[in-house]
Amino acid sequence: MLSLSPTTTPKPSGLFYFTVPSTIPLHPKTLKTPTKRTHRPFSGTPRTLLQYNRKPQLSGETPRVVVITSGKGGVGKTTTTANVGLSLARLGFSVVAIDADVGLRNLDLLLGLENRVNYTVIEVLNGDCRLDQALVRDKRWSNFELLCISKPRSKLPIGFGGKALVWLVDALKARQEGSPDFILIDCPAGIDAGFITAITPANEAVLVTTPDITSLRDADRVTGLLECDGIRDIKMIVNRVRTDMIKGEDMMSVLDVQEMLGLALLGVIPEDSEVIRSTNRGYPLVLNKPPTLAGLAFEQAAWRLVEQDSMKAVMVEEEPKKRGFFSFFGRSLGK
Ligand code: ADP
Ligand code: MG
Repeated sequence: MLSLSPTTTPKPSGLFYFTVPSTIPLHPKTLKTPTKRTHRPFSGTPRTLLQYNRKPQLSGETPRVVVITSGKGGVGKTTTTANVGLSLARLGFSVVAIDADVGLRNLDLLLGLENRVNYTVIEVLNGDCRLDQALVRDKRWSNFELLCISKPRSKLPIGFGGKALVWLVDALKARQEGSPDFILIDCPAGIDAGFITAITPANEAVLVTTPDITSLRDADRVTGLLECDGIRDIKMIVNRVRTDMIKGEDMMSVLDVQEMLGLALLGVIPEDSEVIRSTNRGYPLVLNKPPTLAGLAFEQAAWRLVEQDSMKAVMVEEEPKKRGFFSFFGRSLGK
């Protein structure tokens, strides 16, 4: 049985090995010592050395303006923005997360900041408040700020488009306290005006997809639109992966997804009920102690984003059960 096992996270209680295709260290605060590997080592060429006590090296020009998009709704864009954003803040980078999902905003809920959003970008543009007043600073990580475009249930005002968002990004760059390292834009679903607005200021994209054909078709369409818009740096996160279903051939493997979309892989996030729990609590998963499997996967994706690194989808064999004499014999003869 072939499957993908792509993270450095502790081995789950499933039937599969989790190999280490990339050498992303785990966050020193969440895991101080490397987990003992009981699987076959990854044979690829690692780009970075395994170092547990280092900070990731910020690659590329700052601010890195990254749009988190998917095409299809409900695949995990907002979850990714919240968790990758807070992971980046924990790694010491200054982050502004913009909720560009006008009318259906929910990034504030996921972050537990809904009661602190008094002003939005619309009020800033109308001259009713300053940009600083619209930025909501997270109390847990003060280098993380949230910016909402508009009030919930409101419509995108006529005239608000990509240019307004470009102005906003420029205003963030010109702030007195300095430009942020990362500007993450949580994109709305679909490919209409809201999508075009959200991608306009971005120079890189994180495409979130789940391993199902509807999500993949939308992701493929979005990839084409991003490329048309001049965004060439597109990496994907495959979310809600279930190894048990891959094993039963009820779900596409991440390798299949990668082959279909042909994009660099930033991370693979397992299906995890903790994600839903943390969404409802307004407490992003990456802050959980002890860390969960999905939380660690988001952290590693953030690390790769910083270093503009990617991981490899690999096929691994099913973990051999305790072999008896005959099974060993049978295996040898079978070769
Ligand atoms: P989008 O922003 O793309 O519409 P969301 O981030 O709001 O999607 O996620 C949609 C739902 O899926 C949320 O209820 C969220 O808790 C759930 N979800 C996202 N990722 C996972 C995961 N890895 N495991 C379990 N549930 C998830
Ligand atoms: Mg969303």
